[in-house]
Amino acid sequence: MEIIRVVPSGYCKGVINAINLVKKTRQDYPFEKIYILGMIVHNTFVSNELKKLGIISLDDTNKSKEELLDEIKEGIIIFTAHGISDKIKQKAIAKGLITVDATCSDVLRTQNIVKEYLAKDYDVIYFGKKGHPEAEAVLSLSPAIHLLTSKEDVDVLNIHNEKIFVTNQTTMSYLELADVFKYLKEKYPHCLIEEEICKATSSRQKAIMDIVDGNVLYVVGDSKSNNTNKLVSLGKHNFKKVYLINSKNDINKNDLVGQNKIYVTAGASTPPVLIDETIEYLNSLASEF
Ligand code: SF4
Repeated sequence: MEIIRVVPSGYCKGVINAINLVKKTRQDYPFEKIYILGMIVHNTFVSNELKKLGIISLDDTNKSKEELLDEIKEGIIIFTAHGISDKIKQKAIAKGLITVDATCSDVLRTQNIVKEYLAKDYDVIYFGKKGHPEAEAVLSLSPAIHLLTSKEDVDVLNIHNEKIFVTNQTTMSYLELADVFKYLKEKYPHCLIEEEICKATSSRQKAIMDIVDGNVLYVVGDSKSNNTNKLVSLGKHNFKKVYLINSKNDINKNDLVGQNKIYVTAGASTPPVLIDETIEYLNSLASEF
């Protein structure tokens, strides 16, 4: 059995920068309380590692970012790689907290483009995932932003503005996006579209779609990670079996029976150690199959 790591896979620059910024904040403020408003990147292993440094990830899905912020009285608040609304940022500053912003530059770029078009009185259609922090931050900018989560949502859009701008969350599936945008263009032929899938996401997606002999694909990553989930959904177009695993511990040996080639990829927030351990483990089993 041959084990092949898909290239590229795993950490992107935005994730590396965000994690480094959190670690640097700990070094700069060794005695302060440090909180992250959400998960710095969507991976539980990463959050647990940061907890060992005394850094608390506030990740209660039943509470809004504002409610979580209200619970913090002092110390440092770090905003995650997915971006944050200006309102929350200002509120944290007004509370006297030290703020550290780990927003990825690609996420920021999309936010700034949306702001530009809002300033020119456009309605904005934003293709993203409901409840995802990146989408929430963009939607908080204006009621003139319409969230689109699927092709079906296009049918219920009711926009009369002649000026419509369309863009998307950075970690969407490029195939799904092409389909949704084509459908949208039929309904609003005059809309301006700017595709904003980040390079890290598209290169990881295209790497698995370029594989021509794929039977089995393991995607190492957290189910909370949007880009990881998109690797799973895209992989299903190209592979007979796709398994999402948090780590090697989730591998079921029975799934390997009769397979001679196994591909392994990973989401942009998956730590290298989890990918390496998965590949090592599969290699250790290779002679059995
Ligand atoms: S996946 Fe893309 S947008 Fe998200 S942190 Fe990485 S580079 Fe930035």
